[in-house]
Amino acid sequence: MIHIDPVLKEIAHIFSAHQKKVYLVGGAVRDMLRKKSAHDWDLASDALCDEVCLMFRRVVKTGIKHGTVTVLYKGHAIEVTTFRTEADYTDGRRPDTVQFTATIEEDLSRRDFTMNAVAVDLVSGKISDPFDGAEDIKKKIIRCVGNAEDRLSEDGLRSLRALRFSSVLNFTVDDAILAAIPRALGVTAKVSSERIRDEFEKIILSQKPSLALNLMAQTGLTRMLLPELADCIGVEQKGYHHFDVHTHSVLACDYAAKQQASKEVRLAALLHDIGKPQAAKLDERGIWTFYNHEKISARLVRDMLFRLRFPNGVIDKTVHLVAEHMFHYEDEWRSAAVRRFIARVGEENLEDLFALRSADTFGMAGIEPDPRSLLPLRLRIEDVLAKSCVLSLKNLAVNGSDLLSMGIPTGKRIGIILNQLLEAVLEDPELNTRGKLLEIAGKLG
Ligand code: ATP
Ligand code: MG
Repeated sequence: MIHIDPVLKEIAHIFSAHQKKVYLVGGAVRDMLRKKSAHDWDLASDALCDEVCLMFRRVVKTGIKHGTVTVLYKGHAIEVTTFRTEADYTDGRRPDTVQFTATIEEDLSRRDFTMNAVAVDLVSGKISDPFDGAEDIKKKIIRCVGNAEDRLSEDGLRSLRALRFSSVLNFTVDDAILAAIPRALGVTAKVSSERIRDEFEKIILSQKPSLALNLMAQTGLTRMLLPELADCIGVEQKGYHHFDVHTHSVLACDYAAKQQASKEVRLAALLHDIGKPQAAKLDERGIWTFYNHEKISARLVRDMLFRLRFPNGVIDKTVHLVAEHMFHYEDEWRSAAVRRFIARVGEENLEDLFALRSADTFGMAGIEPDPRSLLPLRLRIEDVLAKSCVLSLKNLAVNGSDLLSMGIPTGKRIGIILNQLLEAVLEDPELNTRGKLLEIAGKLG
């Protein structure tokens, strides 16, 4: 018997007072059986949306077309869906027709994986598990409800969901699913970019993205959804590196995940080298070189993340990290060089860039990077920051309107001159006075 939250018991009471059945379904049951706490509750019921609306004071009609409403109850937002037989197919071919049905068993049969097709009767506490989902959860295996090829070609998102769950839950994907994914690629191609992005993002944010990423490469999903990354498969790079570019990138991403790095660092770790296939040249000694690959990578990452409809803030930050990932510090750097480095990277991005460097280093040979390797640069940065030098336009002693009132016309020119003044101040912090900067601006203008 499973422990049921008292709030869910209260809700069950309300349903049974109206002679309705109500079950906890989906991820919450899966998580309970894994002895993990659930992050949200999905309920299934024979009550129709209108009936649920009458039972509770606050109900939001979040998906009436699919039989779903959201009940707001004691601080919880609980999705209640009427038993039905059809899923929301995302292949772009089938109409989203929904057939309501009488039993929980029929409702469970429309669900994607056995681990997601277990229901708990909230009134009796009994478990409904017609597809042996509890056993699969115990064995940590992801299997389709019914025939894998049929189920994956009904809904193109399921292929990616299977691999996403493997990364998030650390489960094995059944061979039947792996065999069916390549055959269902045509259906997956029709899924909207936003839904693909949501799954990709969950993979990137999981504890071990490599579990899904390697299976994506193996089944052709990478080739279809992230072709720039697929081009890295088999691209060899001898020298410091032990692995081809794809393996290196996936290892780097895993390391970023292990360090619990931000989404942008994880994306940058996976994508920082996608310019290498285009930049690759054999030198006269027969060694592969990849000069300026970071510039090509940055451009390709922008295109890819834009295509996947990531928000601009995520795109800009990831692209910036990728573009700067090749920084190379030497003890001979003058303080001006350290100041220019901070100004270029941005003080707020330094930690992320260093996290990316650690991930990149790990990806070269799969060996834990020496935490002391960035220490000399970090110390120099500390030193510069302690002196509160000017490191960005906002701390310059003059601004755009000062230049305007000097008679410099509005437009691009102002920005260019301000940046030249910043360059001058980064070289010599003593120049950061209004008088001196206006004098220089006069000469530049
Ligand atoms: P999580 O919320 O942790 O990502 P979840 O299993 O709750 O996992 P949801 O996307 O919230 O996943 O969906 C809830 C349930 O609805 C799933 O457990 C599954 O039973 C069913 N489901 C969701 N998407 C599909 C789909 N594409 N095909 C079939 N069933 C699905
Ligand atoms: Mg859920």
